[in-house]
Amino acid sequence: MSWTRNVLRVNLTNGSISKESLNMKWANDYLGQRGLATKYLVEEIDPKCDALSPDNVMIMTTGPLTGTSASTAGRYSVVTKSPLTGTIACSNSGGYLGNEMKNAGWDMVIFEGKSPKPVYLYIENEKAELLPADELWGKSVWEVDELLHTNHQDPLLRIAAIGRAAESGCLYAAIVNDLHRAAGRSGVGTVMASKNLKAVAIRGTLGVGNLDNPEAFFKAAEDGKKILADNAVTGEGLPALGTQVLMNIMNEMGGLPTRNHREVQFEGAGKISGEAMLEPRPGDGRANLTTNGACFGCTIACQRISTVDKTHFSVKDKTKYHGNSGGLEYENAWSFGADCGVDDLDAITYVNFLCNEDAVDPISLGVTIAAAMELFEEGAITVKETGGMELKFGSAEALVWAVEVTVKGEGFGKELGLGSKRLCEKYGRPELSMTVKGQEFPAYDPRSLQGIGLAYATSNRGACHLRGYTVASEVLGIPVKTDPLETEGKPELVKAFQDASAVVDSAGICAFSTFAWTMEDIAPQIDAACEGDWSAERCLEVGERIWTMERDFNLAAGLTGKDDTLPKRLIKDMAASSGPAKGKVNELDKMLPQYYEIRGWTEDGVPTDETRSRLGL
Ligand code: SF4
Repeated sequence: MSWTRNVLRVNLTNGSISKESLNMKWANDYLGQRGLATKYLVEEIDPKCDALSPDNVMIMTTGPLTGTSASTAGRYSVVTKSPLTGTIACSNSGGYLGNEMKNAGWDMVIFEGKSPKPVYLYIENEKAELLPADELWGKSVWEVDELLHTNHQDPLLRIAAIGRAAESGCLYAAIVNDLHRAAGRSGVGTVMASKNLKAVAIRGTLGVGNLDNPEAFFKAAEDGKKILADNAVTGEGLPALGTQVLMNIMNEMGGLPTRNHREVQFEGAGKISGEAMLEPRPGDGRANLTTNGACFGCTIACQRISTVDKTHFSVKDKTKYHGNSGGLEYENAWSFGADCGVDDLDAITYVNFLCNEDAVDPISLGVTIAAAMELFEEGAITVKETGGMELKFGSAEALVWAVEVTVKGEGFGKELGLGSKRLCEKYGRPELSMTVKGQEFPAYDPRSLQGIGLAYATSNRGACHLRGYTVASEVLGIPVKTDPLETEGKPELVKAFQDASAVVDSAGICAFSTFAWTMEDIAPQIDAACEGDWSAERCLEVGERIWTMERDFNLAAGLTGKDDTLPKRLIKDMAASSGPAKGKVNELDKMLPQYYEIRGWTEDGVPTDETRSRLGL
């Protein structure tokens, strides 16, 4: 079981709060977290609704393993309709909030409607109340965190909040919990702001119980931890270098998108890599990386805790940003670094702090700035729009300025806050937007990794590496090595990774565990925690059901198979200019029809009646 079986429903329009029972039939069919909350969402909203209207619903949700002693099991997700893409949105975060929600006795919190005034939700075990947030509105996440800890006189309160970016309409605003863990993608923070909900603060002391077979569970969890400890990636690479272990690897294989995907290798990669974060810097002689850290219950500990050099030009407040905070992960180091052509480690660390402080998705922001830099260099944007700033590739000053104005929603930052697609359309160059379904690309080039191109094109929330991380196979050889330049077998590989991602995100564990765990390692932990038989096969069948349900939501929202595509730059106009993929574009047209066929979808990308019936949809 491992469920509290309690759902908290909060109607923000009239302020009513009620308790209801978790639908255990749905928990059986959709496992939890991503899958289960999506099932609730599709039953409760019109997929065509305006994502920023009171008609949208936002669900904060845990999985059956969240809060248990399984490694990495501190996760929660935010499920809603995305204002950035118009698709389903599901953003996953670590830290301690998910565990606290479970310990307070709630599996899920459903927010409906829109509050007439700014409020925050305070939960202390079974007590839940909406409190005024007038003094919090207009403040950053870090300021909200400090104020709520002080006001409630409780240092153990776990807080998730939105910052100024969400309030000013940035379409890719995040929700940040525990100061630097984020439900980052697809604009879930923007939806929260549209509901006048500034924060959720939780204190839970009830404990997590109800494991179906405690003895079997503790054995499965211990076996899982041993596998993580013995694995080179989860036992050594991630604790030492974090996901930044990938910067030099991706650059060497020619898969590091550079200057808005004009190139695939960055001459400054070494200066912004995980290895560089360990080096003493010239200014103050300290290393960028202070230590590593871990989310609740995690035995991998990939988090980076970093400092910025106090003498660096970007640090205007000499005390505020010198403190330890969430440091660079590969995606952020890439989006602000290689994709903007910037090799200044302190500048990109500083702007990453700003993203934590005001809750913005650093992937979307960095990629949008990269597009703006190309628009500037092409003359489509001028100093007239930027107020005098020369928005050129490679300029750390321009990067810092662009992030500062966006997180505060000031001037040209308002336009950057609309994302790459809308920005490039506005300035008449839509082809310069590196997005799928309106969401900005992560840090792997589809010309150099054929599989990840198909995964981006077919991802249910727009371009995303976490919805089908074929990089594991195409680069790291996990679970088997495949040739990144080869298209054969990639449709099967993408489907397998996508279905597995749906299981992992629904269980309450971290995606990084799958560098070491296969479904054969995960299923026994779910099986011992939950009622019924959860074999690896059943888990993957549930994963496919979840994926197809998300697809159906998107189709009902108005998307079609035509949205399963990549920018022309990557499939036709601009072949990779160096490295092993030199001369290659992504061959999506070869892979997509096979992918649809394997999924049991029509040639237009619609699940057939037979497929829906097979999956019980
Ligand atoms: S692997 Fe990293 S992100 Fe995942 S739970 Fe552990 S510390 Fe958090």
